Formats: sequence, structure tokens, C-alpha cells
Amino acid sequence: MPSPIAFVSRTTETNEAEWIDILSSALPNETILPIKAMTEEQRAACEIAIVANPDPTDIARLTGLKWIHSLWAGVERLVAELGPTAPPIVRLTDPELTRVMAEAVLAWTYYLQRDMPAYRDQQEKALWQELQYRHPHDVTVGLLGLGALGSASAERLRHAGFNVIGWSRSPKILEGVETLSGEDGLTALLERSDILVCLVPLTADTKGLLNADRLEQVKKGASIINFARGAVIVADDLLKALDAGHVAHAVLDVFEQEPLDGKSPFWQHPNVTVLPHISAPTNRKTSVAIVAGNIVKWRETGELPATVDMARGY
Ligand code: NAP
Repeated sequence: MPSPIAFVSRTTETNEAEWIDILSSALPNETILPIKAMTEEQRAACEIAIVANPDPTDIARLTGLKWIHSLWAGVERLVAELGPTAPPIVRLTDPELTRVMAEAVLAWTYYLQRDMPAYRDQQEKALWQELQYRHPHDVTVGLLGLGALGSASAERLRHAGFNVIGWSRSPKILEGVETLSGEDGLTALLERSDILVCLVPLTADTKGLLNADRLEQVKKGASIINFARGAVIVADDLLKALDAGHVAHAVLDVFEQEPLDGKSPFWQHPNVTVLPHISAPTNRKTSVAIVAGNIVKWRETGELPATVDMARGY
């Protein structure tokens, strides 16, 4: 009988029980226990932890831990809280989540390209007025980040006829997409994009990436979609750029503090669309199948999928 797997989270008891239930069905040969139900002996023997926003002090109690599987695709909080001495971390890489994110990027790109915020505003004023149609070929969408989510979004946008450019840390080749990297690449992307989509992880290098100076480089009248993490954009600098009319509209799904404070100026801003972190939620069924597959493979072969590079931060 393998050592029990710990489930470590800061979610509600009901939510935790639901996750453990579905994980246990997918892994009938494993015993999955919430960490608080484990004996000291079980905690010491435990080799694998499945986590969703775990308390780092709970992880430290698993003294024999070999690796951690995150139920989320974004692991910035986990990396920051566990630090460089953490055991290897496998994040969720789920083709279904990738598909949902690419769908969200396309949906909100259409929302901006088809001027929905402006038509909503006109309706409030009972104003019957046609705005000039912009063909997707004439709209340049710039993607910050060309990883699992960014590259799938680029593909979706390209098939919808948009002119797509993308930026990543290391140079990339993507069919039909102009790819850029480095500081000059970032400047070029900011200057040319009509719609800027943020899909870089939050790391020491990307925190505050879009600050006042960089927002100034953004093409006048461009819009921004942030589906990555709130702190990638400096909120006050974005508000100033919106107030000045330099940035036309921002679709924000992520914020430094979530849920977004009721007093945040983003709620009432006429040129901001606030979303409650919904662009690509984890799908329980598909994610559990992937987590289970990774655990079975490790038990059989000792092999792990690519793990998070703790020095790089993603
Ligand atoms: P990923 O596969 O790790 O890709 C990250 C991309 O960002 C890569 O192209 C990487 O460049 C680039 N990058 C990282 N640091 C950079 C830097 N300093 N300069 C330039 N490019 C940099 O991550 P992913 O799966 O696509 O996910 C991206 C982020 O989406 C997650 O970290 C998370 O924050 C967010 N997310 C949000 C939701 C939501 O519901 N809102 C859901 C899931 C994920 P290289 O290719 O050179 O490595």
C-alpha cells in the first residue's frame, strides 16, 4: 500500500471533501487524506501533496515530501510562499483549461474590436449612432506571454483573422505570428498593439511590468486585457492612463487583492470591465484526470512532468 497522499488547501471543508472524493475515484489505489486528518506518522511518510492555495506551514509538516501537484495552472503564490527550498512543484497543464483561456481571449478581443463598451455607453444615453467597423485584419493583438495559454490564444486569434504579435522571455517560432523578445521587442509590441493581452506569469521580472513608462509606450487609444495576475500592471498607473484617454478600455479579470475591494475605482470606471477571475477556471473533471495520470506515472516510473523552475519563478 503506497503512503497516503496529503490534500492541502485553504478552501472550505465542503470544497475540500468534494475534491478528495473525485480524486479518490480517479486514484482507487491511493489513500488521499486532508492534512488535518493525518497522523504524525502518516505526515512523515507522505511523499505527494495535492494542493490548492496551501498554507506553507502545513507543507512544512510533511517532512518526507517528494513533490507537490498544484490544482491550479498559475503557481505564483505557491512559488512565493514556499520559496527555493520547496520540493519539485508540478502545476496543472490541462488542454481544457488552455482551450477555455483561448476562448476567453477571443471573446473579449471581439468585445473590444466590436466596440461593445462604446455601444453599451450609447445605449445608456439613448444614442443611435453607428461606429466605424474595424476588420480583424486591421486590428493588431499583442500577446504578452507565449506559453501554454498565450500560444493557444495566438492560434485562436490568428484563425479569427486578427493580426497577432507576441512577446516572450526566450525567442519563439509560432506559425503566422510575429514573435518578439527582449526590451526592444516589448517596446515594439506596446507601440503596435491595438489590443494588448497579458498572459505572463507574475514573477520578480514581471511584477509592475506595465508601469507608467511602459503604459506611455502603448499606442494611443489601445485597450488592455489582463488575464494573468493583477500585479503585472501597476493599478494606479493604469487608472491614470485610462483617465487621460491614452488607454481606451481595460478588461480586468485579475487584481492584486481578490475579491476586488468594493471601494476600488475600477468598479465604477466607465472604461473598465471588471471580471471576477473567471477567464479560465479549473475544470474539476479534466484536471483530476491529469493529476491522477501524473501520480500513477510517478508511482510506476518515478518520472515527473516538467516542474516549476523556482529560480525563474514559473
Ligand atoms: P507558461 O506556459 O509558463 O508561459 C508563460 C509565458 O510567459 C512564456 O511564454 C514565458 O516566456 C513568458 N514570460 C515569463 N516571464 C517573462 C518575462 N520576464 N519576459 C517575457 N516573457 C516572459 O504559463 P501559462 O500556462 O501560459 O500561464 C500564464 C499565466 O496565466 C499564469 O502564470 C497565470 O498567472 C495566468 N492564469 C490565469 C488564469 C485566470 O483564470 N485568469 C487561469 C490560468 C492561468 P518563455 O516562453 O520564454 O518561457
